[in-house]
Amino acid sequence: MDFKRSVELFSRAQQVIPGGVNSPVRAFASVGGQPVFISHGKGSRIYDEDGNSYIDYVCSWGPLILGHAHPAVVDAVKSAAENGTTFGAATALEVELAEMIVEAVPSIEMVRLVNSGTEALMSAIRLARGFTGRDKVVKFEGCYHGHSDSLLAKAGSGITTFGLPDSAGVPASLTSDTIVLPYNDLEAVEKLAASIGNEIACIVLEPVAGNMGVVPPKAGYLQGIRDICDRYGIVLIFDEVITGFRLAYGGAQELYGVTPDLTTLGKIIGGGLPVGAYGGRLEIMKYVAPVGPVYQAGTLSGNPLAVSAGIATLKLLQNKKVYDTLLERANLLGQGLVSAVADSGVAVQINSVGSMMTVFFTDESVTDYASAKKADTKRYAKFFQGMLQRGIYLAPSQFEAAFVSLAHSPQDIEDTINAARETFASIAE
Ligand code: PMP
Repeated sequence: MDFKRSVELFSRAQQVIPGGVNSPVRAFASVGGQPVFISHGKGSRIYDEDGNSYIDYVCSWGPLILGHAHPAVVDAVKSAAENGTTFGAATALEVELAEMIVEAVPSIEMVRLVNSGTEALMSAIRLARGFTGRDKVVKFEGCYHGHSDSLLAKAGSGITTFGLPDSAGVPASLTSDTIVLPYNDLEAVEKLAASIGNEIACIVLEPVAGNMGVVPPKAGYLQGIRDICDRYGIVLIFDEVITGFRLAYGGAQELYGVTPDLTTLGKIIGGGLPVGAYGGRLEIMKYVAPVGPVYQAGTLSGNPLAVSAGIATLKLLQNKKVYDTLLERANLLGQGLVSAVADSGVAVQINSVGSMMTVFFTDESVTDYASAKKADTKRYAKFFQGMLQRGIYLAPSQFEAAFVSLAHSPQDIEDTINAARETFASIAE
């Protein structure tokens, strides 16, 4: 493969953009080599500036459940653009998307649209604090909730990739009310609640973790947290930025049958354009301005292009058979990878829930951040490079999910398994 143009672009980019990228993990720092610059995508494939093509499992980190440039989404964006790209005023489209979200997600009776997952989480936390009159926030090691100051503590994703415990520029005073507990450890939550339960505004978590690699919740974990929240009047926030409309039409809360008080969304509901949302129980959402005292706003919030792409995407997901198809494809991939790796003798743990999956290079099962961190990231880097050379684009970090989309055909999956078989063999010692 030739990467000449990507190399040139990266060199130019580094002169004018920090690290040459607009989000850290894109720099390929933990897998070595140079990032490939993408020129376009169609269906399950992306194409770089040198004309190389890849089957894509990053899918823009989750939004593209329909694959790249789905005609329904492209048409929706085109016709929205022709009517004007932004008004900063109320539109019918926003109402339509909000109604679809309220209908789909069990916990959401009312929803506010924002522009990113980060904004959704930042706003949901403010709302939980405003509603309860309490300050403390509980989050879990390895769960990422965007890059707002108070949530940048043991945050997984890029933070884990770069081994940063935290971020410079975040005053201790802004994280001093953030308490971080291990994921999947209900006892730790019990213990904390028993001592300061009445001071906790909210517990926020990814119901299926995706940002330390995929880590499913243990049986009873989500319900256990729900019960604790009920006992102490704590607002339970499910961060479904990844899992919303991915694990089921109603998200992880539908799949596991546990209903939070607030839910944050992003990614899929924008169909690949910048969107986020937070919503939940009416009683809480009534605290949001202009009805209530918790301020939150946005010039481009509810943007017609983004909302149109979201509506077009959700319309196609309303046919719930698509979730069976996704699961079938993901299972095919998972089983194929298990057999491919068995031939090589390389130790891996494959964690998957629905269409999200991580191959951890470790022989211990991965149930939390501590066990995820035991994965051999050097080996992952070799795996990543081997797959890239074979035309498979994976996340440039061990601590991320691979996403299967509806555009991944059985042939794509077979090609991926064959590439993995060769790559596993090449990295076996
Ligand atoms: N929450 C979760 C669970 C996420 O995975 C992400 C982003 N990957 C975010 C929040 C932040 O979303 P954004 O990047 O749109 O700000």
